[in-house]
Amino acid sequence: MIGILGGTFDPIHYGHLRPALEVLDALDLAEVRFIPCRIPAHRATPLITAEQRLALVRLAIVDQVGFVADDRELRREGPSYMVDTLASLRADYGDDTPLCLILGSDAFRELPAWHRWRDLGHLAHIVVMQRPGDLPPFPPALEEFMTPRRVYAASALRREPAGGILFQPVTQLHISATRIRILLAHGQSPRYLLPEAVLASIRDQALYLGATR
Ligand code: ATP
Repeated sequence: MIGILGGTFDPIHYGHLRPALEVLDALDLAEVRFIPCRIPAHRATPLITAEQRLALVRLAIVDQVGFVADDRELRREGPSYMVDTLASLRADYGDDTPLCLILGSDAFRELPAWHRWRDLGHLAHIVVMQRPGDLPPFPPALEEFMTPRRVYAASALRREPAGGILFQPVTQLHISATRIRILLAHGQSPRYLLPEAVLASIRDQALYLGATR
């Protein structure tokens, strides 16, 4: 079973890394693939290039067994739609391997805005990194999508290649890339919110100094 964590990673931080490790362990995944988007479909263009964001991801995960940086969205033209990414992973892994799209609760809530979002359920399971208290009610379309697909154990995901939705509780880290960018732009330190090697590389390259958001 393979985990997929897509994101802008602008930059990657412990709010991505710790919950992803907990999902890797709790679901006994073979790997979690970190997939930075080239052009985010639903948000403003990042301040640094996709290659720079990918390089920071690589630095963050280099010594964690089971964490893999995946550059497939950078190799694709146009906006980075997750449905295309999952189709490409499905082609690589074959029809039988369970794929798990890992989403933070905020991303899950926004799912009905995603390109061909219902098709995601044909291509992968969805694993929501759950915040305490952040449970239904969700938007009606999402609630309707979720109810017949909801499962309560990783073993249920393992039995099918796609189509289940599991809420996985993870340690809550109130860390966002936005806050890290703002701290850097204001000359304040984001130390301990992200890996030391990532911060060192950001400083070496003088990234985010002009960030306003
Ligand atoms: P930004 O502040 O720029 O919006 P972000 O920190 O939310 O960025 P993204 O790259 O947009 O990071 O997020 C990638 C994925 O990681 C999404 O599914 C998001 O929900 C999840 N995620 C981000 N931060 C956290 C966190 N602190 N805890 C759990 N999941 C998170």
